Amino acid sequence: MPLKTIPTHECGVFAVHGHPDAAMLTYYGLFALQHRGQESAGIVTAKDVEGVFTTHKDMGLVSQVFKPADLERLTGNRSVGHVRYSTTGSSNLKNAQPLVVNTSRGQLAIAHNGNLVNAALLREELEAKGSIFQTTADSEIILHLLAQPRGNGGGLSALRRIEGAFTIVLMGEREIIGFRDPHGFRPLCLGKKEGAYILSSESCAFDLIQAEFVRDIEPGEVVIIDADGVRSEFPFRASRSAFCIFEYVYFARPDSNIGGINVSKVRVEMGRELARQHPVEADLVVPVPDSGIYAALGVSEELGVPYYPAFVRNHYIGRTFLQPSQQIRDFHVRVKLNLVGEAVKGKRVVVVDDSIVRGTTARSRVVNLREAGASEVHMRISCPPHKHACHYGIDFPDPSKLLANQCDEEAIRKYLGADSIGYLDVAGMIRATKHPAESFCTACFTGDYPVPYDERFDKYVMEQRAHRAGLLEKEEPRLL
Ligand code: AMP
Repeated sequence: MPLKTIPTHECGVFAVHGHPDAAMLTYYGLFALQHRGQESAGIVTAKDVEGVFTTHKDMGLVSQVFKPADLERLTGNRSVGHVRYSTTGSSNLKNAQPLVVNTSRGQLAIAHNGNLVNAALLREELEAKGSIFQTTADSEIILHLLAQPRGNGGGLSALRRIEGAFTIVLMGEREIIGFRDPHGFRPLCLGKKEGAYILSSESCAFDLIQAEFVRDIEPGEVVIIDADGVRSEFPFRASRSAFCIFEYVYFARPDSNIGGINVSKVRVEMGRELARQHPVEADLVVPVPDSGIYAALGVSEELGVPYYPAFVRNHYIGRTFLQPSQQIRDFHVRVKLNLVGEAVKGKRVVVVDDSIVRGTTARSRVVNLREAGASEVHMRISCPPHKHACHYGIDFPDPSKLLANQCDEEAIRKYLGADSIGYLDVAGMIRATKHPAESFCTACFTGDYPVPYDERFDKYVMEQRAHRAGLLEKEEPRLL
């Protein structure tokens, strides 16, 4: 039977309770979370007295989606917001979040980051019981579950039925609710501003709106924020923590603090570990911007070799990773970065990036450096080789397209045309976080999946990705 759900990838969520400028705070909060999703953005606000929900959402970046008039219309002192990044399935407005539904217990709005691994089964079951779905997003499954009568397994206890990675913010008639799945795959934190409580995927959003960081939400914790303040429930079965280590490596913003540690500092430490594991004699350490910047600093400090940001980034184009066809990706990689050639001419260069996925970026960087006359090029990567799929919300291609899934390190070095290659190993990557190994999901590197997944879901994701890539390839001439 074909699956009907669309996985929700790599999103950013934000919510405000009890502030007269809830929409404006959410708007700026989403700006700070834009790196977590660039396909669509949305805000839903609620007035406490009238209980009216107002929604504005559209495809595009936060700056494109909200005009001053839209923000003026979003009145109320509570809000939920979302930025969405899904390269699978239909990226249409219907699937943009937050989603709003009317239930017997009033209106509910939801914003969701992550993937439900048992979405297909739950959806089939709910449809068999008469639920009519308005979207193909798996977030809607959560709304249908919550909306069921409490005696029938509805309400917060329904959350026990969902499996996978989910960080969610919800707005009900009186409250804001936020929770992390019991493994805590994706981040969520609590802040405070002028008596109002705020939930955000990452703490960098609090800096922007000048809110105070209160704390991270715990894995499996449900925080309910209403007129009486903040209270917590732990409805999930206790599980081992499995925070996505790739958030520290690449995905989270460097100015965010997660698990009591600043992300940029972890990246510098990953660079230091990397340099200790793969020392090399060189004249310059050059980062691949922006993702390799902090690790390159760590490599430079540890090797005692000068840091030089020789690649200059053009900030006015989108992420190359969003372009599914290889030809477009190659073009974007070139347009995105230019090299200060004279800085590297005749030099032994260590080039540092956070990760290699397909190898497109790394290969182009080596070619650029060689063309500019670098005498040696040593590639250093501040995480282990990516060999496996992510089932919990990070968008990686089909494993057959992951370079390290296909080749060993020597073959990768040859493919990149580098003089040497060194990846940080799993233990070193974990050490850099100062957290114990048991607290992480490292499945994309190790293949050790903390939550079993429904294989039909995987097949569906791959089909949707192929379909979408096909569509975009047809549009190629217009994009160029
Ligand atoms: P590739 O060129 O396919 O090897 O991709 C590697 C580049 O993409 C690196 O510079 C990474 O920082 C970045 N990257 C890694 N994972 C992701 C992801 N899931 N989404 C977007 N970019 C990524």
